[in-house]
Amino acid sequence: MFVYDEDNIYSIGNFTNASELTVHLIDSDEYDGNRVVNFNNETANKIDQHGLYLRQYDLDGGGPRIEEWLYWGVSLGANGPPGNHDETRCDLAQIEWDHDRDAPDVANDRSGDAKEWNITHELGHGVSIPHHQPTDYSGDTDCAMRYVFDNWLLWMKSAGDNAAQWNAMPIGKDFCDAGDDCKAQIEVSD
Ligand SMILES: [Zn+2]
Ligand SMILES: [Zn+2]
Repeated sequence: MFVYDEDNIYSIGNFTNASELTVHLIDSDEYDGNRVVNFNNETANKIDQHGLYLRQYDLDGGGPRIEEWLYWGVSLGANGPPGNHDETRCDLAQIEWDHDRDAPDVANDRSGDAKEWNITHELGHGVSIPHHQPTDYSGDTDCAMRYVFDNWLLWMKSAGDNAAQWNAMPIGKDFCDAGDDCKAQIEVSD
């Protein structure tokens, strides 16, 4: 599995541990415009191998952060395999912003956990893992494909104890291997 890690954020993400894949980080010139990885000195690849394009990205458009913004990451294109997937955008700055706004006094700073979750989750889409069923919020709380907030929109708009909610949310960093069985759905080859 190949990842072009434009902004050097892959190591934050815990994806290697969760997926148990062998992940090779590549430079931008090691794949082509279609993200087909170039294997120098090799011929007759049976199939093309595509790389995933991972980057830090300001998802709310570069202006001032807004209260209603809901996304920490997006996957562009279809879920994997990587040949169908266009781009993996993670907004680590948004996570820090949410943390500073909602939980500045929480001794247990969970923004690092949230970043690990975010990158692992979005790269999971890149290797074909869908969200849990029957809802995005159901299933194994240790799994990164489960959404972290039970009802984030309500939470953000409430006058409740945001710090306590932030502190209590389950942040999965693994891929589950029962139930939704995210691990079994991983596809790396086209
Ligand atoms: Zn998702
Ligand atoms: Zn799962």
